[in-house]
Amino acid sequence: MALAFTSSTSIAFSSSSSSRTEQGAHVNSTKFQPSDVSHLVSPATFNLSRKRSAAVKALNAEPRRNHPIVPSAATTFAPDVVEKAVEVEDFEKLAKDLENASPLQIMDKALEKYGNDIAIAFSGAEDVALIEYAHLTGRPYRVFSLDTGRLNPETYKFFDTVEKHYNIRIEYMFPDSVEVQALVRTKGLFSFYEDGHQECCRVRKVRPLRRALKGLRAWITGQRKDQSPGTRSEVPVVQVDPVFEGLDGGSGSLVKWNPMANVAGNDVWTFLRTMDVPVNSLHSQGYVSIGCEPCTRAVLPGQHEREGRWWWEDAKAKECGLHKGNIKEETVNGNGNVNNANGNASDIFNGNDIVNLTRPGMENLVKMEDRKDAWIVVLYAPWCQFCQAMEASYVEFAEKLAGSGVKVGKFRADGDEKVFAQQELQLGSFPTILFFPKHSSRPIKYPSEKRDVDSLTAFVNALR
Ligand code: SF4
Repeated sequence: MALAFTSSTSIAFSSSSSSRTEQGAHVNSTKFQPSDVSHLVSPATFNLSRKRSAAVKALNAEPRRNHPIVPSAATTFAPDVVEKAVEVEDFEKLAKDLENASPLQIMDKALEKYGNDIAIAFSGAEDVALIEYAHLTGRPYRVFSLDTGRLNPETYKFFDTVEKHYNIRIEYMFPDSVEVQALVRTKGLFSFYEDGHQECCRVRKVRPLRRALKGLRAWITGQRKDQSPGTRSEVPVVQVDPVFEGLDGGSGSLVKWNPMANVAGNDVWTFLRTMDVPVNSLHSQGYVSIGCEPCTRAVLPGQHEREGRWWWEDAKAKECGLHKGNIKEETVNGNGNVNNANGNASDIFNGNDIVNLTRPGMENLVKMEDRKDAWIVVLYAPWCQFCQAMEASYVEFAEKLAGSGVKVGKFRADGDEKVFAQQELQLGSFPTILFFPKHSSRPIKYPSEKRDVDSLTAFVNALR
């Protein structure tokens, strides 16, 4: 009676021969049943991790043994298993060390460290700079892209141009057809305009991305701090991915490299022009940040590039899920207190020309159909960094409007007021700015991320 091990790790059980089988051939074999050999090998012996199995040389690759003794599984495996000490890298320290490194140095480091287990995520926009940097390192590199099925024709042509220019094949990831069918048949082709882009992005981008990343240990993105003041201002050059899992599974199994985190948009363009890198022709039509066709539009001079993406939504929601870790959660506990680091921040928007509205005041304002004055009101939370960032502009704006027939107010909408503000005042994220016209009860939401005095004034003047 002998056990024969094949290279595919299946185990055949021969009852008619006393010698070990060779080349994986099963002689008079019956299917392996743990109970058949429980007296020979403990169950734990077969419960090897995949990693450990991979490190074990297949038994049929060994030179033929002349003695008929089948060693116990433990002694068979033990000499070939090399237990490596797990090296734990401090990525926060690495990010600090590389903070002033050039994108080329960071790219080189990433490719050197991860070889074939890392790939560049290429969106078809100016992040082609990543491919150029990878090319310049002289190292082999991989590129993948998410084909959502909703990209502009120009982007598809651009993919083709890039493949030819660098003599590479982009590894395209496609959405699951059954999931797309379910979404489109239930909600139509443009549901994202009605109930937000998250669901569609989840099907067409996030899940395909998750599949791609499960085959990698690290990925490289074109994220830059200056791309979105709302969500990307703290992007490090390298980090443990806070959202996705890599090849080994589990949190912490994937590393995200952002070689261009500290590069300004203008410098990217200077680099692309200098290196004569092909670019998406949409850029010459006013597009800056490029995504899917229905969710991307050209921006005007002076507008922020993220204003060209999901423009019908709040600034803070403008991540498609690919970089969800950039969005910090602010939660409200059972007592209505804010659970975040700045929960005890002192109040803001304290100018003399700003009226502090209470809940009854806001309820009245919403109900009134014929107001004496128009109102503009910011819904805010004092701990919110985006509210803090617009405080000086809002105070100056209020001074400018004093006596003009438009009143300026503020309403603290976190804690106990948050649900009311979400349900009655269109609060999506902080800050939300509402204009209450004189002769209408329906407030109009300020649609832009630009909250400087001129932009706010233009908004009011257009509606008053
Ligand atoms: Fe869908 Fe728009 Fe997201 Fe593309 S960007 S996946 S079309 S919601």
